[in-house]
Amino acid sequence: MPKFKIYGADSNTAKDISVEVTADTPMDAESIALDRGIFVSRVVEVMPPDSSHSCQSLANITCKVCDQGVMRRRTVHRLSGPAVTVGYIFLIPSILGMIIGGVIMIITIVGTISTSGLFEDVARDQMAHAGISETIISEVINDHEISNTQRDELTDDQKTVLDNSIQSVILGPMATQTSGVVGIGFSIFIIIASIVGGLIGWLLTMKKTILKCKACGAVINAS
Ligand SMILES: [Zn+2]
Repeated sequence: MPKFKIYGADSNTAKDISVEVTADTPMDAESIALDRGIFVSRVVEVMPPDSSHSCQSLANITCKVCDQGVMRRRTVHRLSGPAVTVGYIFLIPSILGMIIGGVIMIITIVGTISTSGLFEDVARDQMAHAGISETIISEVINDHEISNTQRDELTDDQKTVLDNSIQSVILGPMATQTSGVVGIGFSIFIIIASIVGGLIGWLLTMKKTILKCKACGAVINAS
């Protein structure tokens, strides 16, 4: 049954009044209002809420400022132009920095692992070439030293090669490890700096959704 809104005046107080009644026709609504003591001046049918408009999408909101324009959904930067420019200046190198930092770290790790046995191989070759016995070579590689009796059996040239080899197998890996630690530390520094820079860039270039009136340009926030 349709609903009607009755505008009129209260017969007792003469004040303006409006009531809603349910009736088949406007006539019936009017007579119901009269029975309640209302001098009816106007009867308006109340439209039942249209289900297709109950879920009105944000894109079809009419502007409240000019009452004509349709509000359009737009995505804009939260901050103004210069801040956004600075944001991108932070953002682009920081992405490159993360990639470069990662590559340096991988190269350092791979390099450190692949050179770990290199000094031993070179020392072994040099000692074998100088005619030093396999027993002594093994001791140099494994213990980094030999007994004085073994040393006394060697010629002066062999002693020189032996001392160089001992230094090489001790200091070589240390140097590799040191450069590995420096390389990894450097790459971690680059990655962290890039993450911080990227965060600043992201904050400065953040976007928001607004609704903007096509007619008058009024803007309201949608997010
Ligand atoms: Zn407008």
